[in-house]
Amino acid sequence: MAAPAVIILLGPPGAGKGTQARMLEERFGLVQLSTGDLLRAAVAAGTPAGLAAKAVMEAGGLVSDEIVLAILKDRMAQPDVARGVILDGFPRTAGQAGALDALLAAEGRGVSAAISLEVDDEAMVGRVAGRYTCAACGEGYHDEFKQPATAGVCDKCGGTAFKRRADDNAETVRERLSAYHAQTAPLIAHYRAMGVLETVEAMGSIDEIAEGLAAIVTRKAG
Ligand code: AMP
Repeated sequence: MAAPAVIILLGPPGAGKGTQARMLEERFGLVQLSTGDLLRAAVAAGTPAGLAAKAVMEAGGLVSDEIVLAILKDRMAQPDVARGVILDGFPRTAGQAGALDALLAAEGRGVSAAISLEVDDEAMVGRVAGRYTCAACGEGYHDEFKQPATAGVCDKCGGTAFKRRADDNAETVRERLSAYHAQTAPLIAHYRAMGVLETVEAMGSIDEIAEGLAAIVTRKAG
C-alpha cells in the first residue's frame, strides 16, 4: 500500500484553506490538520502553549516554531493520521517546512503535494470579515458566500450556535496577510524545488475550487 498522503494547502488568510480541507477530508477520507484550530483549542484550554500563543494570535503574528512544532508532532502521532493528512495553515515558515521534511524523511516519506491557492489579497479582507463557524461541529459559513440552508441552523449537524474568530477583523487580517507574504509565501519556491508544487486559481466559487483540488489529490493520493 502507498504511504499515507501528506497534502499541504498554502494560501493567505481567507483563501479557503479550511473550507477546502474539510471538503477533501470528506471526499478522500484524509484528516484535516489545522495548526490554527489546534492553537485555538490550546488557548481555550489555557494550556502553557495556549497562554504563550494568545497575544501573538490576537495581533495577527505567527506563533513560535517551537510551540507550533510541538503541537503538530503531538497531533501527527495520533493513529487517525495514518489515513493521510491535509495540512491547513502549516507549515508557515522555512523552519516549519524543514522540520516537516525531516519528520517525514525519518519515516521514508515525503510531501505528496503542496497546493498553493492563488487569490487577490484585497478580496481576502472581505472574505475573512464575513466568515463564521458552527460552534458544535466547526462547519464554516460566510455572510455573503455560504449561508446555512435554514437560517440559524447548521447544515451539517443541526447546531444553532455560531461563532466568529477574534482575529477575523480588517486590521488583524492585514497583519496576517503581511505575515503570509513575509514568511509563508517563500515556501512556494521550496516546494517547487522539491517538485511537489501545484497551484489552483482560488477566486471562483467554493465548488469550482474544490473540483480543481480534487483533481490534484486524485492524481497524487487517490
Ligand atoms: P489560522 O487558523 O490558520 O488562520 O491561524 C490563526 C493564527 O494562529 C495565525 O494568525 C497565527 O497566529 C497562528 N498560527 C496558526 N498556524 C500557525 C503556524 N503554522 N505557525 C505559526 N503560527 C500559526
